[in-house]
Amino acid sequence: MAPTIGVLALQGAFREHTAALEKLGATVCQVRLPEDLLGLDAIVIPGGESTTISMLLESSGTFEPLAELLTNGLPALGTCAGMILLAKEVLDGRPDQKCFAKIGIAVRRNAFGRQIASFETNLDIKNLAEPFPGVFIRAPGALILEPSVEVLSSVKLDSGEEVPVFCRQGNVLATSFHPELTDDLRLHKFFLEHL
Ligand code: GLN
Repeated sequence: MAPTIGVLALQGAFREHTAALEKLGATVCQVRLPEDLLGLDAIVIPGGESTTISMLLESSGTFEPLAELLTNGLPALGTCAGMILLAKEVLDGRPDQKCFAKIGIAVRRNAFGRQIASFETNLDIKNLAEPFPGVFIRAPGALILEPSVEVLSSVKLDSGEEVPVFCRQGNVLATSFHPELTDDLRLHKFFLEHL
C-alpha cells in the first residue's frame, strides 16, 4: 500500500514537496492542525522561514503532538528551514525559536554568507550515482554533534572548510538545500525507500 506522508503545510515550499511525493505514488496529507497527524507513516518539514514555522507550530497546537510522534520514531525529512527545525541546536536562532532536536546536528542559519545567500551547485550524494542539483536559498549549514550522524553530502567553501549539507541519523534526514524545487525526484525516492 502507498505510504501516507504528512507534509507540514504551515508556511514555505509544502506544495512542491506534496507534488514530488505524489509523483512517486505516496498519499500526502498536508498538516496544519494536530488532527492532521493521525495515521502518518512519515513527516516532511519544508523549507521556508524556520522562525515563522516554529511560531505557527506553537499557535496551531501542533508542536507538542508532532514532537511526541518524532520521539516515538516517526521518520522525517527536513529541508532547509526543516533542517533547522529537526536539529538539536540552532546556533544563531531567535530566543523563542523552538526545534524538535531529532537529529544530532547543530545548525548555523544562513551559513553560506550574505553574498552567496542563494546558489546552485551539483552535489555528490552518497548512494546516488549521478550528481544532484543542489538549490540553496539562505541555507543553513550543519555541524555534526553525534557520531551516529552520517554525512551524505557536503559543500566545500573557498576557505577549504567542508560544510555538511545532507545528514542522516536513523530515519531522520535533513538537507540544507531544496530538492523539492527541482524536477529531480531521487532524494524523495531515497526517503520513501528508507521509511
Ligand atoms: N534561513 C531560513 C531560516 O532560517 C531558511 C531558508 C530556507 O528554508 N530557504 O529559516
